[in-house]
This record gives sequence, structure tokens and C-alpha cells, in this order.
Amino acid sequence: MTRARQSLPGGVNSPVRSFRGVGGTPPFFNRAEAQFLYDIDGHRYLDLVLAYGPLILGHLHPQVVAAISQQLALGEAFGGPTEAEVELAEQIARRMPSLEMVRLVNSGTEAAMSAIRLARAATGRDLLVKFAGCYHGHSDSLLASAGSGVATFSLPGSPGVPQGTVADTAVLPFNDEEAISAFFARSGDQVAAVIVEPVPGNMGVVLPRAGYLELIRQLTLRHGSLLIFDEVISGFRVGRGGAQGLFSITPDLTCLGKVIGGGLPVGAFGGRRDLMYQLAPEGNVYQAGTLRGNPLAVAAGLAVLSELDQGDSYQRLEALGAQLEAGILGAAQRRGCPLQINRQGSMLTVYFSGHAVTDYQSALEADREAFARVHWELLQRGVFWPPSPFESLFLSLRHEPADIDLVVSAFDAGMAALEAA
Ligand SMILES: *Cc1c(COP(=O)(O)O)cnc(C)c1O
Repeated sequence: MTRARQSLPGGVNSPVRSFRGVGGTPPFFNRAEAQFLYDIDGHRYLDLVLAYGPLILGHLHPQVVAAISQQLALGEAFGGPTEAEVELAEQIARRMPSLEMVRLVNSGTEAAMSAIRLARAATGRDLLVKFAGCYHGHSDSLLASAGSGVATFSLPGSPGVPQGTVADTAVLPFNDEEAISAFFARSGDQVAAVIVEPVPGNMGVVLPRAGYLELIRQLTLRHGSLLIFDEVISGFRVGRGGAQGLFSITPDLTCLGKVIGGGLPVGAFGGRRDLMYQLAPEGNVYQAGTLRGNPLAVAAGLAVLSELDQGDSYQRLEALGAQLEAGILGAAQRRGCPLQINRQGSMLTVYFSGHAVTDYQSALEADREAFARVHWELLQRGVFWPPSPFESLFLSLRHEPADIDLVVSAFDAGMAALEAA
């Protein structure tokens, strides 16, 4: 880690990978297989991070390996259209009918940034609404945080983001029907788009209250604003049709990433044909990329989508998630340890908190020291849990019920250590 810190800020290429929140040094991995990761000292970890969401089939699924290998033999990039990228767009649309047209990009960040540009162009409005605790990548206008007091006044979420860039981004509390109704009553006719993670995973998992997403859909329709679902995590994770399928809500635009790349760098956005037609070269909204629709990534994505259709994938993921939730809740009850679990299928967050977590504020109130302590105990027992209390953990189709039992007993040992402390 000392060597890594010399050449990489914080020793990592993405801050979420750092162990700052939990203390200690992250393992350096050099190999993975199915549901396991191996570090350079030969330790094996049960992987609950899964590259922060993409690896829904686990590591090195035979079909994904075969798809990438076959493509690799044919070429790594062509700089021209391919049949496979058309096929991926069609396969996405088959599962999420709201994506009448799709554009592939290289990351979720790009997907959200571009969807917003398109929404602003299509509506001729600048104002964007996002929610505190929802993450849509690190582009300037999305790195805004709520100012104190008045919700309409946003602050740059990072040094280097000009005040002017976030002046047109309003940040509202998630799950707060009154806040969004009041905002739309006042400024709805200026809103280009509302962007939301329909099942937020970036403040930890938070579930939308019944009727909340429907309300956002109604308000945006009524005021001529667009609704952008950021399904970079939830897409093909929470169900075959993503969160929009699960809740039967049709957004105007959708952002995808993670699962559709099978572990390779991919993002996508898509939606209504009349909107997507405004993108260059069909229209004049500019948006481009050298390695878009990269053949290796597209091959991996197609293999993942096809594999997810085999058998009862989503029921199995749900069963594993339910087993983990029940196991940890049971153990916590026996020990009298106050915690909350928010879960949607195979994405789950444990909060060390005595009250329900429904938004960013309540997530922040969870006990971070307790989390750090339990995280350390889990790691000692070979369980790689995300090193932040505000991340979702993920399960894959390669996890077995016996793996879940192991996680529950490691978590129980972590709570025992908390009691003893
Ligand atoms: C991960 C994530 C992004 C950003 O995707 P990158 O590929 O990391 O740029 C955007 N939105 C959501 C909801 C995400 O979880």
C-alpha cells in the first residue's frame, strides 16, 4: 500500500475502494473465480462487492469467458458499426421497452451526463432535479449537494466544480413527497428533468416509499419535464426489466451500466425514439466516444443478459438475499444489536441504526464505528464486504446458500466483538 500510495492517490483508482472509512489496508487482489476473490498473499474471500455491482453471474462465468474469448480472436476494436452492438440494443429494449433506442457509452458517468444533456436540449430548459444521496457519476453538474435551508440552492459537491455548473441543479430529499410537490408547484415549468435512482444504492440501499416514484412520474408529465431513471445499478439487477419493470413505471430516459458490461467497461442510455433522434448524427445534440460499443464489452454484456434468462435467475437471487437478510436480522435480535436492513433482491445494506433508513439524512445517522468494527471481523473471516456503510452489497448467481450461512456466522462474530468492546 505504501508503494501504491506513491503512484496512485490514496493507493486506489476509485475512492470507494479505499479502506479509509473502516481503517486498515485493503487486500490487493490478483485472481477471482465464481464467488471468490484471492489476494496476493493467497487468502480467499467470499466476494460481496462483485466489482460494485456488475458481476451478477460471479467471476469468470464460463459463458462470459467464452464470449469474450471468441470475440478476442476476431479483433478488439473496429472503429465501425458491428452487428453485436445492434443486438445488444435490441436485447436491452426487449427487457426494458421504454428504451426504444439506445446509445452505448463507456461508463455510467457518461450515460448520466449525456442523458441530461439530451433532456436539457429536448425541453429547452436548464433546471435539473436530483436527490440527496443518489449518485449519478462524477460529472460536474451532478456533483451538487443540497445547500442548507432552501432546497433549491445547491452547492458544488467537490472542489473544482464551479458554482455556476451546479446553479441549475436542485437537490431534494429522497422519499419526501411534500418536498417534490412544493418544488414543482413553484418551479416545475422550468424543470428539464428529474434524475433518480429508482432503487437508490449509493447511500446504501434505500427503498422508494409506495407511490413516491409514481408521484415523480405524474409531476414530470404534468409540467413537461422528463423523467430519467438511473438504473446503472438496478438495471437487470433487481429484475429482468430493472426497477422500471418491477414498479411498472415508464421513464422517458434510462441510464444503464454495470451489469450490462459483464465486468468490462460499459454504460448505455436510451429511451423514447423522438428524444433519442435528437442525438448526433441523427440530430444535433453532440455526444461521442472512441471505444463505444467495444466488441469485447458488448460480447460480455450479451452473454450476461442471455445467461440471466436461463432458469429462475431472479428467484434464486431473491432467495439468497432473503436468506442473508433473515440470518443477520435473527442474529442481531438474539444479541440485541440494533440494526436495519434495506434490501431489494440481491442488493442489500445493513445499517447500524435504531430507526428506519429512508433517505440520505437517516443513512448518515447510522453508527460508522460499529460498521468499521464488524467490517474488520468479516474480512478476518474471509468475507469481502463493501468497505463503506453507504454502499450496497451484491450477491451473484454463483453464491450458494452455504456461503450465506458463512456470512451470517461471520457477521454474528462481528456483533459479538462489538458487544465485547
Ligand atoms: C456506479 C454508478 C454510476 C456511475 O457509473 P460509472 O461506470 O462508475 O461511471 C452512475 N449511477 C449509478 C446509480 C451508479 O451506481
